[in-house]
Amino acid sequence: EDLIEKNGYAPWYDGFESFYVRRLKTRIDDCFARPIHGAPGRYIKCFNRIREGKTGYLYDGTSKECLNLSSYNYLGFAQSSGVCTDYALKITEEYGTSGCSPRTYCGTTDLHKRCEKIIADFAGKEDAIIVSQGYGTNANLFASLADSKTLVISDELNHASIRFGIRLSGALVKVFKHNDMNDLEKLLRNQISQGQPKTHRPWKKIIIAVEGLYSMEGNMCNLPKLVELKEKYKCYLFVDEAHSIGALGPEGRGVCDYFSIDPARIDLLMGTFTKSFGATGGYIAADKAIIEKLRINYITQSYSEVVPPPVLAQIISSLKIIKGELNPGEGQERLQRIAFNSRYLRLGLKKLGFIVYGADDSPVIPVLLFLPAKMPAVSRMLYEMGIAVVIVSYPATPLISARARLCVSSALTKEDLDYVLTKFNEIGDLIFLKFSSGIAGGS
Ligand code: PMP
Repeated sequence: EDLIEKNGYAPWYDGFESFYVRRLKTRIDDCFARPIHGAPGRYIKCFNRIREGKTGYLYDGTSKECLNLSSYNYLGFAQSSGVCTDYALKITEEYGTSGCSPRTYCGTTDLHKRCEKIIADFAGKEDAIIVSQGYGTNANLFASLADSKTLVISDELNHASIRFGIRLSGALVKVFKHNDMNDLEKLLRNQISQGQPKTHRPWKKIIIAVEGLYSMEGNMCNLPKLVELKEKYKCYLFVDEAHSIGALGPEGRGVCDYFSIDPARIDLLMGTFTKSFGATGGYIAADKAIIEKLRINYITQSYSEVVPPPVLAQIISSLKIIKGELNPGEGQERLQRIAFNSRYLRLGLKKLGFIVYGADDSPVIPVLLFLPAKMPAVSRMLYEMGIAVVIVSYPATPLISARARLCVSSALTKEDLDYVLTKFNEIGDLIFLKFSSGIAGGS
């Protein structure tokens, strides 16, 4: 405030968030964004870093192979060999590596059309549109469908891309407590004029925005209740399935499949290809009318590069495997393994006394460290033991609920998970992470 007073304009000062991130990232830089090489499959090859000076790190060119619980490789499709890779290589020879154009100019290939058809069918919707970036899919979606006469009611823990996208649209935003259906209903009731005819409500439309599986919490949205509320209050429902598509449900079709809910009852199903499909890009699956509207005014596809053909090949072939149309049996095997691995690791960690967030069937397993100060020790010890995990804290989580996030993959074996459990047991004892259920109430 003093500087603004003195200079007449605001300096490039640090807010608390950037101050915290800068301090954290320069002090324990080796624990974040460790460069890797090779495919992030069952193992991940991480480059070693050596400390130089107080804050700097050098690479010595050597690398360490770690069991990979750090990538979103839920179904193990992040591979560098096999039928998906073979198809991607064949398509590279035919189409090259880039469309060199947005969809609306000359970037649309027959592969884009095929990919949209196959993902729409998989998501259980009439049509779909694919976009070259998952973040961009959300960041520009709401501006295409909402305006200042729209109310968006958003879960407080929605991904940054959703929050950014909603703000960009100019819609009014209300936030409800994470997964709290009572809070959501309270908001809905307050927004809709009591006793007025439906046409008198102040909003042209209301969109409820949630995620299928929350990537920092490891829990799912309450889809049955959300559908009930959206039908009762006549709203649209948007579900981000970035982490649930492929990873949840007996057929891998995401939260609708998991909760046995007809996808026709959800208006907008968004997903990314960066997780379960080992590719890149995002999609919106919805009714034909919505997709037709997006084909005209969805900025991301009008002004940005298409999903590259080899990536489409990876998406198409992995989806075909999941659906059993390619390598019959392999898709089901991958789905069964992710389901088994998710429960086995989570229940094992709980049995050891760790506090773990989320649902038992979730492949995202956040192990609570609480104090950010414990993050470097956990990250470095696990790395030394040959286990790669992601450590997260503020601003991605509340300040005192730092966590090690383990992402389970079909690529991991039961023996791999037993090794992870043994090593977690050791570090839990070393840095007092474990709580007996008597002390901390368990979880
Ligand atoms: N939505 C959610 C819920 C996410 O977690 C992410 C990123 N992990 C995205 C969207 C953005 O997807 P992408 O990384 O594919 O751009």
